[in-house]
Amino acid sequence: MPFILTSKNLGKTNTAEIGGKGANIAELINAGFPVPPAFFVTTDAYNKFAEENGLKPKIAEIIAKIDFDDVDSLKKGADSIRSLILNSTMPISIQDTILDAYRNLTYSEDTGGSSFDFIKGGKDLPFVAVRSSGIAEDAKGASSAGQYETFLNVRGEKNLIASIMKCWASLFTPRVIYYRNKNKQSQDTSISVIIQRMINSDRSGVAFTVDPMNPVEGANHIVIEACWGLGETIVQGEVDPDHYVINKRDGRIESVKVNEKRIMRSRDLYSGLTVIKDVPKDKSRVQVLNENEIVALAAICKKIEDHYKYPQDIEWASEKGRLYIVQTRSVTTLESKKTKALTGTPILIGLGASPGIGVGTVKIVKDISELGKVGKGDILVTKMTNPDMVVAMEKAAGIVTDQGGSTCHAAIVSRELGIPCIVGTKSATQLLKDGQVITVDASHGRVFAGEVKLETEAGKPAELRKTKTLVKVNLAFPETAEKGVRADGVGLMRLEHMLTKHGYHPIEYIRQKKEDELIKIITDGVGTVAKAFYPNPVWVRSLDVRTDEYANMIGGDKEAKESNPMLGMHGIRRSLVDTDILKCEFTAIKRLYEQGLDNVGIMIPFTYDVSEFVKAKEFGKKFGLPDKIKFGVMVEVPSCALAIEEYCKAGIQFISFGSNDLTQLTLGMDRNNEKLNNLFDEMHPGMKFLFAYVIETCKKHGVETSICGEVPSNRKEAVEFFVNLGITSLSVNLDAIDKVRGWVNEFE
Ligand code: PEP
Ligand code: MG
Repeated sequence: MPFILTSKNLGKTNTAEIGGKGANIAELINAGFPVPPAFFVTTDAYNKFAEENGLKPKIAEIIAKIDFDDVDSLKKGADSIRSLILNSTMPISIQDTILDAYRNLTYSEDTGGSSFDFIKGGKDLPFVAVRSSGIAEDAKGASSAGQYETFLNVRGEKNLIASIMKCWASLFTPRVIYYRNKNKQSQDTSISVIIQRMINSDRSGVAFTVDPMNPVEGANHIVIEACWGLGETIVQGEVDPDHYVINKRDGRIESVKVNEKRIMRSRDLYSGLTVIKDVPKDKSRVQVLNENEIVALAAICKKIEDHYKYPQDIEWASEKGRLYIVQTRSVTTLESKKTKALTGTPILIGLGASPGIGVGTVKIVKDISELGKVGKGDILVTKMTNPDMVVAMEKAAGIVTDQGGSTCHAAIVSRELGIPCIVGTKSATQLLKDGQVITVDASHGRVFAGEVKLETEAGKPAELRKTKTLVKVNLAFPETAEKGVRADGVGLMRLEHMLTKHGYHPIEYIRQKKEDELIKIITDGVGTVAKAFYPNPVWVRSLDVRTDEYANMIGGDKEAKESNPMLGMHGIRRSLVDTDILKCEFTAIKRLYEQGLDNVGIMIPFTYDVSEFVKAKEFGKKFGLPDKIKFGVMVEVPSCALAIEEYCKAGIQFISFGSNDLTQLTLGMDRNNEKLNNLFDEMHPGMKFLFAYVIETCKKHGVETSICGEVPSNRKEAVEFFVNLGITSLSVNLDAIDKVRGWVNEFE
């Protein structure tokens, strides 16, 4: 792959070369949207740089030593990796290629982004935006929330090269390393950098093609936020932007809220640097976009959503009366935690940016050195969060900031983490005191002194209407059961995580003849969940560990070495060989049944042939499982989907789509390969065919249907599809219960 690419022939599938953000920009340019011209420094350029400087083994060594629960250790490790990168040299061959493209990058007033060439520029080198573009970024279902660096108003060859190096280094900020570790993503990853002609914005902002705070009615709205100068002031939460709401169906403006925009960022005429200055008094309360412009921008945004067939989070800019789209990404976090407001007098008011209610002790964090103060369940109070604060944010029961709007860092990250967050209170760090207990009602942007309870029945948060299509939850840890009890049952209880928590690879219990321990862990764990949800059903999935998983657990090294573990000895095919596993699981479930917990069902994973279901059921009988216990299968292998009628005839009582594996096997795409993120489409026509066929066949035989793969937790159109097919239930992640319930409400 060359070190740089232009947008020609590139599009959304090119994330491996130019990252998610880059692929989006190329796609937009080629689709004719008004995008400033750009070129892309490819991931190969970074890889070559890393290779020439021998960086990868050194980075791996530092990461291996990080204690991820220790803020200092994480920060120290990240700092040393970044200085390693910044002190390395970019190979001359890469520098030459980049600088050549830069010198030739010019801006044609009338390109509108649809066709731009590299025409020899004038004497002055252009100002450019230098943006990182991560390869797992901006894909559907993976919010980047601006994890990597962006540099605006960069001009000059030296500055450009330095900014690109800084973007590369931002692959290893504490926050990003932490995220990758948490999400079990490889740290050996790459990054692309976008070099884009800088628009000298006199006005700019963001736009959502769905109201992220209100996905139910908000699905029909486009929300635009606007400020003077560069849009950084909105992203950084430094300004209270104008807020316009447009009806998506007919393009009508529904509301215009003009706020006081006290400051603006702009390019200094002399130094070219971004400067922050006060907005002149006579301009600060003036509406930024006029009505024609609002309507025109909304129409472009709607077209972008139509193009991507998914709600978008868009950054726009205007220069001398022309509108430009600077970037766009899929909206990945939508909330519908609508609760009744708490009663009483608030001590502080701000913008509810991530809904929910949190109670805890105030910990005021002035800078990163004070992060250690924040313990689990505290309320993090700070001027404005930044990426380094994520480790502490995750522990917090609530977040309150002085600055910020609905798209600032704190808002995006807390929405992703599911933590109640209020931004833009202006004075939280002055008004609140360290050690004070407060209640944060982030659904309504209010902070109360002390602990305030919600006055609904049983003190529980108000719930959305129950839906005909049941909304269940996926669980892995008994400890979190209580958090999910408003769901209509557990559609997938994974056993593996519960078992590995004790340090042993699950199979090691059998090898060491510690079956009694294994039975006890399952009985206790599943029992806790079954009690919490009783009488709603809890479907326990029989063990499904691939031979390469949990290698670091005790006994993990004794697992067979398979050339393709995804397709190897796991799921029911393995348990039918190591039948002691089934014996332990069935014994535990039988015990629970005898204790009166008759709501536990058994789900057979990764079956490819009906004979496996029949054998598993026979083992159930042999180990004394009562007939009343429900038995079903996960539909994860295409042969199971296609032969579902045989399973129905053999007596399955329910099915649940394991869409993660079913997509992997139907599309022929490794689900763990980050390079395939953008291609991995659970709603591919081939998948829809299988889903529809299985649901129709099961309905004919009176078999219940469900889905427990990731897709309904993340994609609204998938929920619409399944509701329309009449699926019995959707089983979703803990933090998606209310959101998905809202979607189902909308479609029923
Ligand atoms: C699936 O494959 O969709 C599933 C839920 O199982 P897992 O992700 O555990 O393989
Ligand atoms: Mg699976």
